[in-house]
Amino acid sequence: TKEDVKSYLFRNAFVLLTVTAVIVGTILGFTLRPYRMSYREVKYFSFPGELLMRMLQMVVLPLIISSLVTGMAALDSKASGKMGMRAVVYYMTTTIIAVVIGIIVVIIIHPGKGTKENMHREGKIVHVTAADAFLDLIRNMFPPNLVEACFKQFKTNYEKRSFKVPIQSNETLVGAVINNVSEAMETLTRIREELVPVPGSVNGVNALGLVVFSMCFGFVIGNMKEQGQALREFFDSLNEAIMRLVAVIMWYAPLGILFLIAGKIVEMEDMGVIGGQLAMYTVTVIVGLLIHAVIVLPLLYFLVTRKNPWVFIGGLLQALITALGTSSSSATLPITFKCLEENNGVDKRVTRFVLPVGATINMDGTALYEALAAIFIAQVNNFELNFGQIITISITATAASIGAAGIPQAGLVTMVIVLTSVGLPTDDITLIIAVDWFLDRLRTTTNVLGDSLGAGIVEHLSRHELKNPDVEMAGQYEYT
Ligand code: ASP
Repeated sequence: TKEDVKSYLFRNAFVLLTVTAVIVGTILGFTLRPYRMSYREVKYFSFPGELLMRMLQMVVLPLIISSLVTGMAALDSKASGKMGMRAVVYYMTTTIIAVVIGIIVVIIIHPGKGTKENMHREGKIVHVTAADAFLDLIRNMFPPNLVEACFKQFKTNYEKRSFKVPIQSNETLVGAVINNVSEAMETLTRIREELVPVPGSVNGVNALGLVVFSMCFGFVIGNMKEQGQALREFFDSLNEAIMRLVAVIMWYAPLGILFLIAGKIVEMEDMGVIGGQLAMYTVTVIVGLLIHAVIVLPLLYFLVTRKNPWVFIGGLLQALITALGTSSSSATLPITFKCLEENNGVDKRVTRFVLPVGATINMDGTALYEALAAIFIAQVNNFELNFGQIITISITATAASIGAAGIPQAGLVTMVIVLTSVGLPTDDITLIIAVDWFLDRLRTTTNVLGDSLGAGIVEHLSRHELKNPDVEMAGQYEYT
């Protein structure tokens, strides 16, 4: 009946709006492309998209902290230990499967036939050694200053030097804006290019450190009886308030996504530079990601839960499209929460506990891509990899995906770790930069899908612990 159609439409309004946004954004982008907008015009045009990114980033830090603290506090140590183990096993298994798929498709398709001499290069690469980057990752788990950890990290620990902002003081920047807007814009882009994201960071913020701290903190206050009550209530209420903000942002999201997509299509490079090998490389990455996201992960979900994975994935549509639009799994996190809790009815004790960790360390798409890209670079260099080197690539690609921040193109930075581990030229990353923005969107979507199906699987495996909140969960804590 008409009423049914109406209520169906309203229930699915978000999804419909979001899908429409993608379609309209794509059409708009291609229509405006021939006009060759200047850098500044593109920036103005994609402004609504930039606002969406900023809104999502605004809520993500308090969301990570409050959900992890309440998530940990709501579980007793036995339940959280079990659930944590299951999540870690799921993350490791799926990441390793992703790496193996990446290696198999790149060896079978062999996109790097021929030499690299005729290939187009773009940008410059910052050199980092694998050991330094790894130590940095561990170091970042323990931020010496929690307040500082919430700010943008302008320096990397291993280089012991800050990336000097080419503007001496704010005064000069303000002056530059008044005198010449475009010059200031260029300067700002330059600053961004010189910034190296800190491993495990979210939008330049040390998220990994905050994740570790919040988990420990939540664990401690969960065991504090009456004395911890005030803190438990505080973080619970903070979490609730942030989720309400997210609900508001969700209404804005389709508009933001429309302009993010249209803006990217307007500014992207002409496809002319994408030669034979790069085109084959792109296809190879897409095939690998599709195998993982459309076959392996849904199958795994089905095998474990015996439920229809496509119904579950249908509920995630808005998060997946947001990932595609923002290329950032951490910016997508608020939407992932909403989709899982509201559309798929996943228990909040599970989402609060596993999603922030998953978004920070579990990146199947990135792992697959790192291994695949490294072998592609070996192929264009006619560099024969032996079995041991392929194993090394698998291990470092896994580590690099854990270390990659959930921000646009972070995987490209941690790629250096994989290449140096087997002695491949890191400068050859510049060969794949031209298509990376696009592949990044696809791997980000795969990352978000992996985290979400993981939450579903962990919930299923933990159903016994979850069924009996009074016994298994910390009893003194009223869970809402
Ligand atoms: N952009 C990806 C993400 O946010 C990370 C990557 O560059 O692979 O998940």
